[in-house]
Amino acid sequence: MIVLKTHSELERMKKACRISAESLSVAEELIRPGITTREIDRAMHDFIVRSGAKPSFLGLYGFPASACISVNDVVIHGIPGDYHLQEGDIVSIDVGACCDGFHGDNAYTFPVGQISEENQRLLRVTQESLYKGIEAAVIGNRIGDISFAVQSHVTPYGFGIVRQFVGHGVGKALHEDPEVPNFGKAGHGPRLVEGMTIAIEPMITLEGDAVTIDADKWTTRSKSGKAAAHFEHTIAITKDGPVILTKR
Ligand code: MG
Repeated sequence: MIVLKTHSELERMKKACRISAESLSVAEELIRPGITTREIDRAMHDFIVRSGAKPSFLGLYGFPASACISVNDVVIHGIPGDYHLQEGDIVSIDVGACCDGFHGDNAYTFPVGQISEENQRLLRVTQESLYKGIEAAVIGNRIGDISFAVQSHVTPYGFGIVRQFVGHGVGKALHEDPEVPNFGKAGHGPRLVEGMTIAIEPMITLEGDAVTIDADKWTTRSKSGKAAAHFEHTIAITKDGPVILTKR
């Protein structure tokens, strides 16, 4: 069931989304060769709590940290730990915050120092595909129009689109209906109406759609072993077009 948000609910949801977005900026400030992913998670956790919110991911389905921190071939759900970031890595950070009864959810892939040209292209194209998806998120369109917009932007580059994980509605629960795949047919799926709030989140690899999950049951890697990127915003469908609630 798709839960629509009233104007006043949207106003409340903006705070959770702003804190989610700002916590990514906290991470960005820290990212450099040598820092561990656990240190980044701690700083994000502390920021979220200091801001009067709760980290949405901590304990969700048993996840043991406040942010998912995924390096290089890890697409999503990387568990923060002792890994020290290295020059040339790419690091995807996905984080949510909850306050006043609503969640925000967003992700960004950061370069660590100087990265390869192919990884630069991967980051650029993945972020562009997110914005193509957002542009398609207008009243009267369908979820499939968002999916198709993401897919059509990515495919010509030969990159892989992860299919096993998709975007989602977001609101009082972090994960609500509808699913928002990064592939699909224009004109298909649920119609977009005012008051829908969704997380659009392309997960793109340098090569191949397939992923594998580590024995920890979380760490999700590209099967090809090639690098992956992940960009996400929570947006609202409004009469004035899509509004990015997690804009930094
Ligand atoms: Mg999400």
